[in-house]
Amino acid sequence: MSRRPFDLHNHVERSRNGPCFICEMVAGNPDYAHHLIAQDDQTIVFLSKYPTLPGYALVCPRQHYEDLAEDISPAQYLALQSVVHRLSRALKQVFDAERIYVLSLGSQQGNSHLHWHVVPLPKGTPYEQQQYHALMAEHGVLQYSDAEMAATAATIAAAYKAMTV
Ligand SMILES: [Zn+2]
Repeated sequence: MSRRPFDLHNHVERSRNGPCFICEMVAGNPDYAHHLIAQDDQTIVFLSKYPTLPGYALVCPRQHYEDLAEDISPAQYLALQSVVHRLSRALKQVFDAERIYVLSLGSQQGNSHLHWHVVPLPKGTPYEQQQYHALMAEHGVLQYSDAEMAATAATIAAAYKAMTV
């Protein structure tokens, strides 16, 4: 699969000095459009623009919460995790995944909007290329056309929709 180098400097610049990309997407700003997988009144699920693995998706609350421990209630946390789990099951079905990685990352200095990375690890990935190595854009991101991203999002969306809650 062909990879392109990741422009880390540019990404850091945008993350730290630009508006919240998730809030802009939720508000419908076309400059921040992503390939959607699912959404409801609380949650939005979409493909990462910088996938290091096929099917690399993000789950976010629509509202701009930042602190996992302090900004959302246990009930809100569990509701978000039920979306993460449903997406994980959909990804497992669509991709030949050995594991589903789930991480809540972000920074108060950039990308502060609470979000989860939900990522299928392809079966047969060499051990030394798994885990953090598999997720780091510094190792290059996969080169997909917009049409390929749209098709991937539609396939995951169909599996997600068909999945029982
Ligand atoms: Zn936000």
